[in-house]
Amino acid sequence: MARDYYGILGVDREATEQEIKKAYRKLARKFHPDVNPSSEAAEKFAEISLAQEVLLDPAKRRIVDRGGDPMEHGGMGGAGGPGGFGGFGDFFEAFFGGTGGGGRGPRSRVQPGNDALLRTAVTLEEAFSGVKKEVTVDTAVLCDVCQGTGSESKSKPVTCDHCQGSGSVQEVQQSILGNVMTSRDCPKCHGFGEIIQDPCRQCAGDGRVRARRDLTVSIPAGIASGMRIRMAGQGEVGHGGGPAGDLYVEVQTLPHRVFVRDGNDLHLRLAVPMYDAALGTTINVDNLAGGVTTIEVPAGTQPNEQIVLAGEGMPRLRAEGAGDMVAHVQVAVPTELGRADRELLEQLREAHAGTPEVATESTGRDDGFFSRVRDRFRR
Ligand SMILES: [Zn+2]
Ligand SMILES: [Zn+2]
Repeated sequence: MARDYYGILGVDREATEQEIKKAYRKLARKFHPDVNPSSEAAEKFAEISLAQEVLLDPAKRRIVDRGGDPMEHGGMGGAGGPGGFGGFGDFFEAFFGGTGGGGRGPRSRVQPGNDALLRTAVTLEEAFSGVKKEVTVDTAVLCDVCQGTGSESKSKPVTCDHCQGSGSVQEVQQSILGNVMTSRDCPKCHGFGEIIQDPCRQCAGDGRVRARRDLTVSIPAGIASGMRIRMAGQGEVGHGGGPAGDLYVEVQTLPHRVFVRDGNDLHLRLAVPMYDAALGTTINVDNLAGGVTTIEVPAGTQPNEQIVLAGEGMPRLRAEGAGDMVAHVQVAVPTELGRADRELLEQLREAHAGTPEVATESTGRDDGFFSRVRDRFRR
């Protein structure tokens, strides 16, 4: 089970970096081992520190947002704090705004790229048939001047003379807990331990530049709103020209004028004039395939009755078969009657005088589904 990192800090999924830090600081004041020596507090402190570390790291946060747990195999790793309290570095970072990175050695200049997320909308017709969609992606791509080396002459970086290649510098800071030794990224090499002597003029040594690209996404028939299509290697190129992450295209389906989708079933409201409900009729509706579906309304159809057309719903995603089409009958009673209509209806009533057909008990026929669907129609 993936840990609920947002829940641990009590922030919502849209929380900004500032909100995450604020929530962490608030909890840290309560659970820091110097404030609260109990073992439960220590555990809690480790937990909130981990949650902050994960949520402040865009790559890790993305894994969380996809339902994964970036620390699943790494446990408490990363912060390098004293045993049990993985988050000391982050604790001071939160209070003093350091950039962290202490004791970890230089960072590799070449980093794997992040995944990218893009949203696109399709109509229900497009979701029904599948569609190829043009999307414009704005991501980091490999710098074509230096080919990712970051160097104008494509020469190798040299060891940083400020940190002797360790990537970090140590500092003593005064704090509410006394003097503490903190280490932060070397300001000269930014933690890489090496320096590019002739930075590329196009990417300033980053090895990558931002660019817009047009891509074609194949959206399969039967896709549901909120699903993501993964395009391997189409995400962000990493620092130093590192391998690109993946691109995820999240598909939203637009509301449809006639159909409401529920899983693979398609529901529609079918207004049937009362004489057609009594006598039976056929009604043609425009379907999502661009054709016409004929719905047989049997004689004696009652209000709220459901007519199910098996296999006429949405195609199953990457599978055989389809859901059902479900027509919810609404019997339309005329609100204004012409003279001739009134006379006909009065004759009908007279013919049935003395044969009460009024039932007061529920027929139990409406399973309540349509009342839910109907609410969605009203939006
Ligand atoms: Zn470059
Ligand atoms: Zn350095």
